[in-house]
Amino acid sequence: MKILITPWILFGVLLLFADACTMNEDIKRAPSIERASFGMIDDRELFLYTLQNANGLILKVTNYGGIVTSLFVPDRKGVFQDIVLGFDSLSGYQNVHPYFGAIIGRYGNRIANGRFELDGNSFELARNNGENHLHGGIKGFDKVIWEATEIKEEGYVGLTLSYLSKADEEGYPGNLQVNVTYKLTNDNSWEIHYSATSDAKTVINLTQHSYFNLGNSKDILNHELLIKGNHFLPVNAGLIPTGERRPVSGTPFDFTSQHLIGERINLEEEQLLKGGGYDHCWILNSESIENIAAEVYDSESGIFMEVFTTEPGLQFYTGNFLDGSLIGKGNEKYNQRYGFCLETQHFPDSPNHPDFPSTLLEPGNKYESTTIYKFSTK
Ligand code: BGC
Repeated sequence: MKILITPWILFGVLLLFADACTMNEDIKRAPSIERASFGMIDDRELFLYTLQNANGLILKVTNYGGIVTSLFVPDRKGVFQDIVLGFDSLSGYQNVHPYFGAIIGRYGNRIANGRFELDGNSFELARNNGENHLHGGIKGFDKVIWEATEIKEEGYVGLTLSYLSKADEEGYPGNLQVNVTYKLTNDNSWEIHYSATSDAKTVINLTQHSYFNLGNSKDILNHELLIKGNHFLPVNAGLIPTGERRPVSGTPFDFTSQHLIGERINLEEEQLLKGGGYDHCWILNSESIENIAAEVYDSESGIFMEVFTTEPGLQFYTGNFLDGSLIGKGNEKYNQRYGFCLETQHFPDSPNHPDFPSTLLEPGNKYESTTIYKFSTK
């Protein structure tokens, strides 16, 4: 039998081909990790690791600062979007920038006057934020080179980053051995597991400082946010908690049901004015990794992010200090509120607030903390 390739048959074949291409989105691929050079610092070669899971999500991480440079997740149409702010190359990260994508330590957030006491001894830390200590000091964990070990396990690919922070680094006591494991799981979660031990009493509060933007519009004001926290910590002019635990109810800080980030951000409210927007720590209702801490949704892209953590606090920061002076990936100018951070952590300035959950780490004990950012679409 002769088969005539009529234009209609050709059209049908093309349709089938197109369909197979779209279905490709659902096809599972083998999770992978690739390593490429990312430049040199202090005669040490840096690497950029590309982790890809079975659904095609991609997490790019450098061992400089443990910085997540890109996170590609699919939007509602299945098109992959890079949802974190950052730079195209190492030089961007070597210049002054507001901790894009980095591991923050030894202490995420502020310690008032860069000072705390342990057993009657006073410790003076680097002051890099006015009179206060911020995000671990002048050379925090965001600027050190980490040892990286690739992991490939059933259900995820990952990278363990290890660093020994020597006693007195930025003023902290104790030699602190830190491990941070990033996992990109096949259920589309980015999991972060932190652990640390010290040979002397010290304080620790690690976090991750990715700036997310789940949408296609430039700022994040139309993202819907929910935070499972009935209280937040009001701050003074230096963004140090006053010690009060204020109910969110009846304030612009109430995200116990979904609100657009931009809905109340510009109100003439004393705490919003102090932060220049949201730059506050919420007290989470639960410290269980099983329970949602926060959710963010962008109705334009359809991307939905859920946050789970073992930490008692969540710093919600709306990129208030971004002022357009930084040119990020793809030559984009990062203006105010182009990204938001949801930094899971203990409360700011805990070493000076004995009634806050303790950030003390003693020799023989292990600091452990887990946070999960989970992605889907709606
Ligand atoms: C802090 C902000 C700070 C930003 C960048 C956030 O974690 O809460 O106050 O400006 O980090 O340093």
